[in-house]
Amino acid sequence: MDDLREEPTKVAKDIIDQGSKGLKFANEAENRIVNILNAYRECEQLSLQQKQEIDALKAKIGAKAEIIVEGEVCWKALDREKKAPYCSRCWIKNKELMPMRDDRNGIHTCIECNNSWDDGTYREPKDQTGRSPWGDRKWK
Ligand SMILES: [Zn+2]
Repeated sequence: MDDLREEPTKVAKDIIDQGSKGLKFANEAENRIVNILNAYRECEQLSLQQKQEIDALKAKIGAKAEIIVEGEVCWKALDREKKAPYCSRCWIKNKELMPMRDDRNGIHTCIECNNSWDDGTYREPKDQTGRSPWGDRKWK
């Protein structure tokens, strides 16, 4: 009987123990769920960031592929300073970007088809009398 008298106290103690174990477990479970949610959000953010990077790269590649034809030459749309002219004849004919050799006198010549372009700085050489050795021939 003595054992039974103490039983309610033991049961109450066990309930409290189990309850605190349950509470501890609930806290741990909450932390684990929060960690999972944080990792998920990080992944979500990362994939959004990667998607934006991919979109930016696609836009860049698209713009790079865009070719602007101007008379005898053509340019990559991204080459805003127009530093590297390509031959428009070769581009139109073969869809091939053929670099033009800089002849260092204002004339650029296609290394494939000999098409030439005056970048606006060409000055025809003149002899002592002021005549051009090529007569009145003009570059276009
Ligand atoms: Zn050419």
